[in-house]
Amino acid sequence: MSLEEIKTRIAKAEEAAGRAPGSVHLIAVSKVQPNERVEAVLEEGHRCFGENRVQEAAGKWPGFAERFDGIDLHLIGPLQSNKARQAMELFDSIHSVDRPKLAKAIARLAQELGHCPDLFIQVNTGEEEQKAGILPADADAFISECRALDLPVKGLMCIPPVDEEPALHFALLAKIAARNGLDGLSMGMSSDFETAIALGATHVRVGSAIFGERVKPTE
Ligand SMILES: *Cc1c(COP(=O)(O)O)cnc(C)c1O
Repeated sequence: MSLEEIKTRIAKAEEAAGRAPGSVHLIAVSKVQPNERVEAVLEEGHRCFGENRVQEAAGKWPGFAERFDGIDLHLIGPLQSNKARQAMELFDSIHSVDRPKLAKAIARLAQELGHCPDLFIQVNTGEEEQKAGILPADADAFISECRALDLPVKGLMCIPPVDEEPALHFALLAKIAARNGLDGLSMGMSSDFETAIALGATHVRVGSAIFGERVKPTE
């Protein structure tokens, strides 16, 4: 599928849901994709990209940024506190804030650096042991804690369990966001972004549907 086709599908999903045109941001997830594929999408004029590893992003995005203006880079994978500084210097948004220790590290670094990326709090809506994210029951308290630290929390993010109906998870995330007065919803991937848009997604994270199957495994 091409970038244009995905954009068309997003526009149709926005319209079907009665959402304003352009209200959904397309994050093109470029992790482990060969540079030629990423470059082709940059050449088409797209500027919003997602990576799930700080190290990998640090290896390729500074080079692209020298050649292409206005890149908007999102960290969508787990973040260790000891990589927070590097992540904050590299990314415009971080979607994986999920525990007090990390929130405190980001707050401290924001003071020191004088800027902070937009933040999304990851919620483990499926309560999966192996998955990152704050548990739904702890989300309200953690959101308050992040706000008390003056962090720029823009919204919530989730990755539904592979074997469950994603709509239930998107609806749960939207509910937690609404009751906390948060507008941003980072949800929906290649296989389910239209469902996510119907349920209020503001940021969809689409990888393989744009770039093709990933060449290497990511985990
Ligand atoms: C890889 C990844 C995506 C994109 O997945 P696709 O199925 O290729 O669209 C989205 N979100 C996160 C957090 C990812 O790690």
